[in-house]
Amino acid sequence: MSGLDEVTRVDPEIAQVIRNELERLRNKIELIASENFPSLAVLQAAGSVLTNKYAEGYPGHRWYGGCECVDVAEELAVARAKALFGAEHANVQPHAGAQANTAVYFCALKPGDSILGMEKAAGGHLTHGTSANISGALYDAHFYGVNRETEMLDYDEIAKIARSCRPRLIIAGGSSYPRDIDFEAFRAVADEVGAMLMVDMAHFAGLVAGKVHSDPVPHAEFVTTTTHKTLRGPRGGMILCKERFAQALDHAVFPGVQGGPLMHIVAAKAVALHEASRPEFADYARQVVSNCRALADALKDKGMRLVSGGTDTHLLLVDLRPLGITGRELEEALDAVKITVNKNNIPFDDKPPAVTSGIRLGTPAVTTRGMREEEMVEIADLIALVAGNLGSTQVMHEVRERVEELLAGFPLYPEL
Ligand SMILES: *Cc1c(COP(=O)(O)O)cnc(C)c1O
Repeated sequence: MSGLDEVTRVDPEIAQVIRNELERLRNKIELIASENFPSLAVLQAAGSVLTNKYAEGYPGHRWYGGCECVDVAEELAVARAKALFGAEHANVQPHAGAQANTAVYFCALKPGDSILGMEKAAGGHLTHGTSANISGALYDAHFYGVNRETEMLDYDEIAKIARSCRPRLIIAGGSSYPRDIDFEAFRAVADEVGAMLMVDMAHFAGLVAGKVHSDPVPHAEFVTTTTHKTLRGPRGGMILCKERFAQALDHAVFPGVQGGPLMHIVAAKAVALHEASRPEFADYARQVVSNCRALADALKDKGMRLVSGGTDTHLLLVDLRPLGITGRELEEALDAVKITVNKNNIPFDDKPPAVTSGIRLGTPAVTTRGMREEEMVEIADLIALVAGNLGSTQVMHEVRERVEELLAGFPLYPEL
């Protein structure tokens, strides 16, 4: 692998880890819905000397000298984020999605304030009020789930819960909700109860950028995201907000919840945001959703039950209860045939998070690799084969060969 000469000389053990990881990525079908393969340009920016620089503060107002170069990187990232999402203000410094959310809470709430988010078991995220997270420890967290029949958000029910818990902040968005979200409905609920609205688009930001998902930006006071999922940038976080919160929000990020920003990552975010503004990225986003639909249809053809009956996004959830197997079992079996997925609780799951009754599948990474609907049908076939034949060494052998054949047509990072 090029560019590893010096790591190899100084630290052969870590050089080997990097080489092994590149091989793992190349040799497996990556279906984890939150993962992606950023461009070489993003990787280069992230691996640059910008990592050296202390830049506490914001462009033009730093606590350190020598920030004239990194200031340009951050200004570009902010301008591009605002333009791409039509936002009034952007903060590109959060180290990750979790920090972005914590900063919004620190900006918008006082300890003890009531918040209303999606229940983790129904598809929400750890940082939306669970007791293990600072959001549940510091704030009075309440939750909505999905409708038991439709397995989709029920806005009348959310309004009912909001009327009874009177949240100061409502949080929309999650990590394993396969459907589009009605942000106008969330806005109406927030207005009715006098709450602010935060949308966490960590998973579907790339789909919003590509205009294949409803746009939360006009409707929410705050929109948080990661930059490494469908947006296909470096591992990091970002916040968009209305201009009236700009100053308070920036203060909540630094010095509120973070010290110095990671300027190499800020630069890599700028690169990714530039890439996401090009027409090719809209094509990519469209293909991600189209691939996910094709995967969903093919799985259903094989008799598998999908939560909510399908998908509008880049991800889907398979309910494994009809097959009598667990998410943990299928995750392990698929891993053994070089298909990477994650076990995931499904709504109203009776199994604990370490076991689960479901798996979550996503198409962002395989789409980046160039796969299309035809390959999704093959992948669905392979998954159904493994799920229906757990423990069969003959089936495992056949699937492993078909995975290798499939991947051979889609080289990953050939330059590396
Ligand atoms: C992934 C995710 C996050 C957190 O991202 P990290 O970068 O891992 O901190 C936050 N919210 C949602 C909805 C997510 O899916």
